[in-house]
Amino acid sequence: MRVPIITYHAIGDMPSPLWTPIETFDAHLSAFAKCGYRTITLTKLLTHLNLQEPLPENSIVITFDDGYESVYQHARSLLKHYGFTATIFLISDYCGRTNQWSGQPSSVPVETLLSWEQARELAAEGYEFGAHTRSHLSLPTVLLEVAESEMHISQQQIQNHIGQKVNVFAYPYGATNAAITKLAQQHFDGAVITDLGFVHSETNPYMLNRIDAYYLSPLWISHMHGSLFQQYLYLRQMLRSFRRNFHPDWLLLPSHSRNIHLE
Ligand SMILES: [Zn+2]
Repeated sequence: MRVPIITYHAIGDMPSPLWTPIETFDAHLSAFAKCGYRTITLTKLLTHLNLQEPLPENSIVITFDDGYESVYQHARSLLKHYGFTATIFLISDYCGRTNQWSGQPSSVPVETLLSWEQARELAAEGYEFGAHTRSHLSLPTVLLEVAESEMHISQQQIQNHIGQKVNVFAYPYGATNAAITKLAQQHFDGAVITDLGFVHSETNPYMLNRIDAYYLSPLWISHMHGSLFQQYLYLRQMLRSFRRNFHPDWLLLPSHSRNIHLE
């Protein structure tokens, strides 16, 4: 069994691939429901992976990176309508502030991020929270001590504010290397990247592929386990890898230059 982990960022009509329009988000959820998917938290998926139990059938994990306030304002009521839950990755130094962290391209619209109070409310409704560092640094570009504090302190801050254990991590920009992944192993049960693909029983829990919502449509959702969608994802991933190799500084380029959104 393969389980898709879907990546969303903000919900709304901003002119950026990081924003999923409300109607599109609703159409995605409606398609997930029609196809019989049930949402599970990332921790639940990792429990199955780590215990080498069969992955639960018809399961899907919905994730939101960066913890935008529109998750609270718009996604929450729609998720509730369909009986779905999600895992939200917070940037702990930026809760209640805007998405203007260092390195954020000026082309990305400004939006407020979830306050701790809103996050607590969502946690009480069953949402899972994961860490996404303190300040959204690309971890392979900083000293290992800095990377570790970004990971570990963000985990502690979220736990302290929300009163929920934080088991999962999202590498900013999906960027990691052997040393960073080892740090993730010391502090978390698993971690997500941005490479496109499904999770299956052999997947490394600290290199969990995801499927960016930008590439989804209700039609693709209804054929998500078919070979055509696999080929589509494979081609998209090839293009992304090519861009990264072609531009060694790919991660540092503004997202509009990368022609893909991400993270
Ligand atoms: Zn991010």
